[in-house]
Amino acid sequence: MGKSFAVIGDPIDHSLSPNIHSAAFRELDLDSSYIAYRIPKGELEIGIDGLKKIKIHGFNITIPHKIEMMRYLDKIDESCSLIGAVNTVSNIDGVLKGYNTDMDGFLEPFKKKELNIIGTKILLVGAGGAARAIVAGFAKEKAKSITIANRSLEKAINLSKFAKTIGLDANAIEIKDVKDTAKDYNIIVNATSVGLKNESSVIELKGINEKTIVYDIIYMPMNTDFIKKAKEEKAIIIYGYEMLLGQAVRAFEIWHGIEAPYNAMKKALLGGF
Ligand code: NDP
Repeated sequence: MGKSFAVIGDPIDHSLSPNIHSAAFRELDLDSSYIAYRIPKGELEIGIDGLKKIKIHGFNITIPHKIEMMRYLDKIDESCSLIGAVNTVSNIDGVLKGYNTDMDGFLEPFKKKELNIIGTKILLVGAGGAARAIVAGFAKEKAKSITIANRSLEKAINLSKFAKTIGLDANAIEIKDVKDTAKDYNIIVNATSVGLKNESSVIELKGINEKTIVYDIIYMPMNTDFIKKAKEEKAIIIYGYEMLLGQAVRAFEIWHGIEAPYNAMKKALLGGF
């Protein structure tokens, strides 16, 4: 019997994950299928029971269930306990094991492009769930320091405390206090949801240069105002779709135990834009 996979969340209609994983199945001739399954907030437990009944082999989790899903796991991978949220689950004979592939997904483009993180100064804008996985990634790769800028200062302070506990020199500021300091950093990341609706970038990027790495984790639209501003300054760009692809590749490898067909998955993803 073929293996079945899903992504759960709400809203889920526009998820690109079914396209990406189905392309991998086709490329490697795997007898597997991957669907998007809408589970509204408050219905996670019933939804999970249903997935277990159909002997789902694995699933991804997106908004709003990434944290609540932790409660329904039988086993927790280290990536998952560190970040406190789960985006990938494997189901082996009814035992659900949770992973968080957002951190590795975020780091993947640095590895692919051989961009250095060791000893760098980071400006991270945003302090939500994705930002936490990003902080864990920068700590793992031994960045020198991180400034976390967020609309609500309290959340930035909390995240900077987490950063310190995992060995990263950190401080917290409000977004409005970034002003013209972007040029003082080696790597600048937008991890807010600002840009999804084509809004203007929340920070200015004047004075950065061709050595500055600018990474927007928003993947739709691909060319956000933040990315456009970075291009004007000739910075090195990493697009949100590269992180999305990175986390999908990692999830594929957890589930199938073989190397993911990166190029086929990338082609399917870019075709979805
Ligand atoms: P959260 O809801 O946990 O966090 C949202 C963040 O955006 C918070 O820091 C919030 O600030 C900030 N924010 C929202 N609106 C504004 C505003 N008007 N002005 C300033 N800041 C604002 O979301 P996630 O962390 O889960 O995701 C963030 C984004 O990253 C989403 O757009 C998502 O699509 C994208 N993403 C991309 C991934 C990829 O693979 N490329 C993976 C995961 C997420 P405050 O705390 O003040 O509310």
